[in-house]
Order: sequence, then C-alpha cells, then structure tokens
Amino acid sequence: MGFQQRTPTQPPHSPESICLNRLDPICDGQPLVPSIAQSTTFQRSGVGSDPEHQYSRVSNPSVALLESTLGKLEDAPAGVCFGTGLAAETALFLSLLQSGDHVVCGRGVYGGTTRLFQQLLSPYGIECTFVDSTDTDEVRRAVQPNTRLIFVETPANPTLDLTDIRACAEIAKDAGVKLAVDNTFLTPVLQRPLDHGADISVYSTTKFIDGHSVALGGALVSKDQGLLDRIRFIRKCTGAIQSPFNAWLTLNGIKTLPLRLKAQSKSAAELSSWLLDHDQIERVRHPSLATGHDALIAQRQHLGEHGAVVSFSIKGGYDAACRFVSSLRRCTLVEHVGSVETLITHPASMTHADVPREQRIDVGISDGLLRLSVGLEPAEELITDIRQALAAIRATSKSQGGVPVHA
Ligand SMILES: *Cc1c(COP(=O)(O)O)cnc(C)c1O
Repeated sequence: MGFQQRTPTQPPHSPESICLNRLDPICDGQPLVPSIAQSTTFQRSGVGSDPEHQYSRVSNPSVALLESTLGKLEDAPAGVCFGTGLAAETALFLSLLQSGDHVVCGRGVYGGTTRLFQQLLSPYGIECTFVDSTDTDEVRRAVQPNTRLIFVETPANPTLDLTDIRACAEIAKDAGVKLAVDNTFLTPVLQRPLDHGADISVYSTTKFIDGHSVALGGALVSKDQGLLDRIRFIRKCTGAIQSPFNAWLTLNGIKTLPLRLKAQSKSAAELSSWLLDHDQIERVRHPSLATGHDALIAQRQHLGEHGAVVSFSIKGGYDAACRFVSSLRRCTLVEHVGSVETLITHPASMTHADVPREQRIDVGISDGLLRLSVGLEPAEELITDIRQALAAIRATSKSQGGVPVHA
C-alpha cells in the first residue's frame, strides 16, 4: 500500500489553527502528535554530509517545530527558543550589547529582567537607565549616544500600565537602536509587537504559551534575519537551548492558547469590573478598565481582549492582604502567572520582598497590592471565592476591634 501524501491545506499561522503545528506533509500512519526528537545527536549518511540537525545544543527538530510555530504567529521567520525566558533575554542582551553600551529599560518590567541589568550586566560595563515607559517623553530623554536597546514590557508587571509600542518604535528608529518588547502576558494571540514597529518580541513561554505549568521556556521572535542568526550563534556558544521535551510539552500547550487566553481574559475583565464596585478594594488594574490615552493604546495594541492578569489593592494594607490570601479557597498562592488555574501573588511579600518599601511603593506596588492570574474556572466561582475571603477579613478586623477596613 503506497503512502497517501498531501500538504496541509490551511496555513498554520492564524491563531485559530495553531493546532495544525506540523511540518511534515500529511502521511498515512503518521502519529497525530509529532514525536519528540529526544536525541542529543543526529546521524550523517557519510563524510561531508550536512544534515539540518546535528547536535541538540545547536538545533533540534522538536525545538525547531515550536520555533516555526511561534514565528508564524507573528508573520515572522522561525523564532529562537531557550531553556527559560531569562535565558532568552540574556542571549538577546549578549547579541546586541558590549561593554560601554547603554540600555533604556521600562521600570515596569519583570523583576528578573531588572536583576539581569543591575546585578549581572552592569559589572561588565553595560549601563541601564530605568524609566517610566508609559511616558514616552521620558523614554526619548533617556536615550544617549551609546544607547543600543530600548526594552519595555506592556502591560507592565504587576501594575498593568500600558506602554505605547508604536511611540517607542519611533524613538528607537530615530536613534538607530533596537526596540524589544516583553510580550509574555498577552502572547502573540492578543498583541503582536512587531506589527507596531518593535524589532524583537520576547517571551517566557513558561507562562501562558505553555499554559499548564509543566515546561520552562523562552523565545525571541524577530523579522531581522541577521539578528536571529546572531542570537542562534549566542545560543550555541552559551548552551541555552530549550530541551526537546519542554518544546514538545509547549507545542501541546500552545494548541489551546487562543481559546484559553480569550476565555481567561474575558473572566479577568468581568472580575475587574466586579472588584471596582467593592468597598474593601481600591485601585483595580486591568487594561479593560483603561480610560483616556490608555484606552486608545489598548484598543490599538490589543487584539480584542486584554489579558488574564488583574491587580488590585486590599484596604487595610499588608496584614489585610495576607489574611485575604489565606482565606481564599479557589485561588492558589504562588509566584507565577499564566496557568489554567487561578493564581494569586502578593508582590510586597513575594516577588518584591527584596525591594526597599519606599522604592516599591514608588513604582506602584503598595503593601495591599495583589496580582491575580485568572484561570479557566467560571468567573462566578472566582467572584464567590473572593467575596467570602473579603467577608472573612472584614469579620476578623471587626472582632479584633481593628481599624475599619474602609478607613
Ligand atoms: C516569568 C517571566 C520572565 C522570565 O521567564 P522564565 O521562563 O521564568 O525565565 C520574563 N518576563 C516576564 C514578563 C515573565 O513573567
């Protein structure tokens, strides 16, 4: 019986068809799910042969399949995948920066990004100025003759402030420098930074792209082939490639990314508007609540929904926030976002515990701030849980004769 071969008819680049992430022509008897290339090395037919994959520190078929899938989601060539998001960022910085160079970085970036600049790269003579990237005039003023890169994250972490990618891209272009956008929170399903003029999209695939909290990973996506080649060279030199198993797990997770992220984002928006009306809560942050200029940015940059991460402050500060998270039953306390379960973080005691209090409050992280990564549970279930936890802390503060929570 001969092989029936045909080429997939639907190009797998629309978010709705990620589940067709296969490279091979459709063939009788092929496994539906591509097998993992769990091998460190690849055979050659003879001396002088030059197969596409030779050694898995340089490239691997499972990793390559994830790379082409991520590239297609931004109409870009295959991306470059790494063992973690921070390994991807490190490779990006090593590919663009050397001693004496300068970076302009948004203050609202992931804490690990800040640590990389302040504690690892600065002793190598790479200087970084942190700015409020929501104020693009501040970004422009921070650019120096030795600036090589502008790095921003939008929505910011955990304040969810929005940065105008197009305005930053103009500044970068005028200065002849690269713009990188950490797009971990929205993923290419809800925001495509390259469409707005960014040079590089940065991902921790560990979060929403995997979506099931099973595989660490990072990725860089760009349309600049020269830069991609340089990044691949850095990855080969430093040995930072993703494992084939994690790439395979991520390829399974990414099939449902559009469905998950849209459903989770809808619940996040519903929950945000409920929180807005609650007298024990202040400063609810979610891009669906944006007004004025921020609303215009959200409308231009976001593809329909605004992401699954919400932040809000509990009245009563640090203690009230701690008692609140201990009373929750459906939301799990972790330092993580992007899973199918609803996750909650108290930045003041967790992600930002090392940051001096004044400095933390200065960047919008108050004692009572909580970050919620909304999962796939029905929104009503989450609202019920949050309502009972708020009632529990109201009851304890009354019985302790404490300050009324609405003070
Ligand atoms: C988690 C995260 C990172 C770092 O990714 P790892 O995979 O943990 O190394 C970078 N940026 C953002 C926005 C993140 O949430």
